[in-house]
Amino acid sequence: MKEGIKDFEKTKPYLVCVDSDGCAMDTMDVKHQKCFGPKAIEVWGLQDIEERFMEIWNEVNLYSISRGINRFKGLVRTFDLVAEEGYEISDLSTVKEWTETTDELSNPSLEREIAKTDDQQLKKTLDWSLKVNQAITELSDDDEPFSGVKEGLAKINDGADIAIVSSANGGAVRDEWTRHELISHVQAMLGQESGTKAHCIAELQKFGYEPTKILMVGDAPGDLEAAKVNCVLYYPILVGNERFSWERLASEALTKFYEGSFAGEYQQQLINEFHSNLQK
Ligand SMILES: [Mg+2]
Repeated sequence: MKEGIKDFEKTKPYLVCVDSDGCAMDTMDVKHQKCFGPKAIEVWGLQDIEERFMEIWNEVNLYSISRGINRFKGLVRTFDLVAEEGYEISDLSTVKEWTETTDELSNPSLEREIAKTDDQQLKKTLDWSLKVNQAITELSDDDEPFSGVKEGLAKINDGADIAIVSSANGGAVRDEWTRHELISHVQAMLGQESGTKAHCIAELQKFGYEPTKILMVGDAPGDLEAAKVNCVLYYPILVGNERFSWERLASEALTKFYEGSFAGEYQQQLINEFHSNLQK
């Protein structure tokens, strides 16, 4: 297994790119329910409206079309929705403005903005973001792959190269995949250090895979978007139906992928199903 794109070697005519968080690894729910949401409640003192705040938090970040949204944008959207319901909650308009104008949604970029403005809500947002990172490192034993992932990867790897394409920290992803013995089925590991998912797919494509022989497997609209901009195929892991999704990938979708009948009607049917699953 190679880390990053540099030493990657194409060994098969087909390539399957697999997202990690919420797709192969059952890590999204626990991170949002134990780290992101609760740390916001702590930093902004929202204990009085805790229950409704968490419902809205989970809706925005996990169970709707904005699933997988950047943490800062998810924070702003949640606060907006909570305020719309008439609850008393801090005004995050300075944070919103920063998310809309910064060229990088990251803690260092937020620190630079704080140095310029000394804004209290930006400071709280940074405090929250750092507390979330700390809380996530303390979760370590809570991650598990979804049922069907290990078997699915083994079957995929019989006929296709596999690359992890993730926007999470590369080291953390490698540790998770190693600990759960998934890594032996993987030829490349591309984390956030390798660039956006769309960029990673484009780079992998340069090794000589035809676009119709590349499949992106993901759980969030951002994964579909990364596939679309590269004109490659997309297979959705449906939130709440992950096991079914992995089993169907191995038993049905893979055959269509190899036979060349995935694009068109079947692809559209999968995308429709993906969207309706996030709009319930
Ligand atoms: Mg994901």
